[in-house]
Amino acid sequence: MLRHSVLALTFFVAPLAAQEKIDTAAISRIKAEERDRSQVMEIASWLTDVFGARLTGSPSAKAAGDWTVKKLNEWGMANAKMETWGPFGRGWSNERTVAQVVSPRQFPIIAYPAAWTPGTSGPVKAEVVVIKADSAPDLEKYRGKLRGKIVFTQPPRDSVPPHFTADASRLADTSLARLAEAPFSADPPRGGGPNAGANNAQASRFRAAQDLQRTLATFLADEGVAAVVTPGRGDDGTVFTGASGSRDAANPTKVPGLIFAAEHYGRIARMVEKGVPVTVELDVKNTFYDDDPSSFNIVAEIPGTDPKLKNEVVMLGAHFDSWHTGTGATDNAAGSAVMLEALRLIKATGLKPRRTIRIGLWTGEEQGLLGSRAYVKEHFGDPQTMQLKQPAQSQFAGYFNVDNGTGAIRGVYLQKNQAVTPVFTAWMTAFNDPRMHTLTANNTGGTDHLSFDAVGLPGFQFIQDPVDYGSRTHHSNMDVYERLVPGDMKHNAAVVATFVYLTANRDEKLPRKPAPTVQ
Ligand SMILES: [Zn+2]
Repeated sequence: MLRHSVLALTFFVAPLAAQEKIDTAAISRIKAEERDRSQVMEIASWLTDVFGARLTGSPSAKAAGDWTVKKLNEWGMANAKMETWGPFGRGWSNERTVAQVVSPRQFPIIAYPAAWTPGTSGPVKAEVVVIKADSAPDLEKYRGKLRGKIVFTQPPRDSVPPHFTADASRLADTSLARLAEAPFSADPPRGGGPNAGANNAQASRFRAAQDLQRTLATFLADEGVAAVVTPGRGDDGTVFTGASGSRDAANPTKVPGLIFAAEHYGRIARMVEKGVPVTVELDVKNTFYDDDPSSFNIVAEIPGTDPKLKNEVVMLGAHFDSWHTGTGATDNAAGSAVMLEALRLIKATGLKPRRTIRIGLWTGEEQGLLGSRAYVKEHFGDPQTMQLKQPAQSQFAGYFNVDNGTGAIRGVYLQKNQAVTPVFTAWMTAFNDPRMHTLTANNTGGTDHLSFDAVGLPGFQFIQDPVDYGSRTHHSNMDVYERLVPGDMKHNAAVVATFVYLTANRDEKLPRKPAPTVQ
């Protein structure tokens, strides 16, 4: 069936906050279990310290997934399993990275491979060439001169300034007040608005830059260079990394790609600019896995106990995958551990949810919300056609997501769902924690609740303190266990358990927005 099916009927004016029936004893039990017997940091330590980075398609992601399913079974969860989705593409892992300058003066380099690029096929020692190419014709002067060289494709960063502001912050009351004032007005039409011209210019600059990158990659591969190096974003030992290789086995990336810490890249590039030859030794071993191009989501349930409501489902979720250099602690072992702990809290307290509670831990988020999109399409409907799967779509009570790092939950992004305001207001009042009192009409993007929102399901992401997510940990080599704040993680687990449990036990499902139209 097409759009405007059941959805329109379920949109109603919610009762006043005072009329929400709230099981405050349940909230107290959840808080006490988290205070006295928390496992959230232990879960996070396993996911980060033991399994490490969980790049989608890597053996460590799979090992962490196996451990998680085992843990869910140990806790007595029902239907704990991995659900396959795909194809995702080639698996990839980095087995060895040695990078050091060997002349004119030896020093070790903070260096990481870009994901899905090949290794160096053994140790190589080669001279560094810094190329300058703003357009395809600029490349001609390098033709025939780069074989076996280590190529720096950018000048050293202009400036790597000192940090005059703290890396970490909490949301000030003034910031929260501004969020709370956001209107529920509809989003501006796509492609329109006063900035449309500027956005189009930006988009065409972006396309031109991408075209040049592709031309450059082909040129360097044809030249037979030893490796391509770029300076990482970040400083003070922090390197932000990502992918520059292809996941398509039919169209593989041919040249090893590395990211050097800005300061080490800068030192080498400045020497080369002075005419001082620099030799770098690299030994990078990366492995591709082509046996199975699919990936997995992890699901498990606490079955509902109300005969009339147990077929209805409340979900809590987070993405399980990470980038490959740190251990994906704040992005997103934090969210995964909070969700696992929230589920454990509900089970361990012996609370009886009326609706079924289901966890979903997604992979492929970093490559475009791939796992959660596949899950929603498989179980609830296709956002492209708005062909909805019934009865699952109409039996869905709500989805809660955590993916903004370790920071304490301060409230909820309502995703323009105005009708839910009195419900969450009442819940926050009952939870009674001075940290959490803000609701904002605003949407927040870039994570998995959008997959649910896209087919008309009420999906929410929490407002969190940034801490040092944006400045230091997000996709960096320093996204590690130490960057998790235990007090915040515990608070978040108790908040999520409370919201999920109250959704499971409410007389009605959470109110929905009017149905989205076909995209
Ligand atoms: Zn991320």
